[in-house]
Amino acid sequence: MRLARLILAIGALSFFSSAAATSNPSERISLRTIAERHGMTFREEREKSATLTGSNCSIACFLDKSSYVVNGVCVYGQGAAERSPRGLTIPLNDWKHILEPLISGRKVPGVHCICIDAGHGGKDSGAHSGALNLTEKSLNLDVAKRLGNLLQSNGFKVLLTRDGDRFVPLEKRSSIANCGKADLFISIHFNASESPTAQGIEIYIMPRQGTAATARLSSPLRAKDAIFCPNNEFDDCNLLLAHGIGEKLMRLKGVRDRGVRRGRFCVLESVHCPAVLVECGFITNQAEGALIAQSAHRQAIASAICDGVINYAAGATH
Ligand SMILES: [Zn+2]
Repeated sequence: MRLARLILAIGALSFFSSAAATSNPSERISLRTIAERHGMTFREEREKSATLTGSNCSIACFLDKSSYVVNGVCVYGQGAAERSPRGLTIPLNDWKHILEPLISGRKVPGVHCICIDAGHGGKDSGAHSGALNLTEKSLNLDVAKRLGNLLQSNGFKVLLTRDGDRFVPLEKRSSIANCGKADLFISIHFNASESPTAQGIEIYIMPRQGTAATARLSSPLRAKDAIFCPNNEFDDCNLLLAHGIGEKLMRLKGVRDRGVRRGRFCVLESVHCPAVLVECGFITNQAEGALIAQSAHRQAIASAICDGVINYAAGATH
């Protein structure tokens, strides 16, 4: 009995812990070596890009770029691909903590209850587009409710951090998920930019302990980056959830894939389950904003996120 409990505990730990095997950030591995070790087909083109193809997975990698395309979805890493005598190399940590978890078909804990967080609300309107008269807090709530209905009709229990135009502090949002024993946390937002050409969907997860947010790859790490946050316990599952959602969301008509990214969002760092923040498009881009204004597109976004959750939950052990 005790042994069985111990085995269960070890099994549970292996779901959650990815911090233990972190390598020196400067260590690199060649893509050719990865392909040889894992029986994948390897193709490199003029030392500028490489593709690794396995029986049911593919990885594309590009010289000087810090992002990969894994099974059709862009995922940001911690350093750019570089040339070497063995062809293109990438940071060993990107292999260990991004690519390998994504292609290995890892099991995840079961999913029963999902907390959906409609970003902003009440006195906090979020982003606004004057040209299209779109206000983020209303769009977030609309998509959150649509997603909640879809998840419920697929048998999941759903918690909403707000179901009306109310201000809810960020720490309260995490505690609603934690007190409700949510198995997943999904925060819904829409994006804005001073650049009218910015468009596309971004999916954020917490950076791993000791690593930078996606936007600060080349800048020095901040003291905060070294702290282990409660949500870091779910590093691998965060990534699998974000990628599972990305596989469905990035296929939507008219959507540009801006990738799975890392951001130290207050609303994510204290959540005790796998958590993502989805920026569902730029309301400041004329074409994308016009699409977001259509309820059919918002329903398609909710439906894709729901399918992504089902995609992720299919990897559950029970
Ligand atoms: Zn927002």
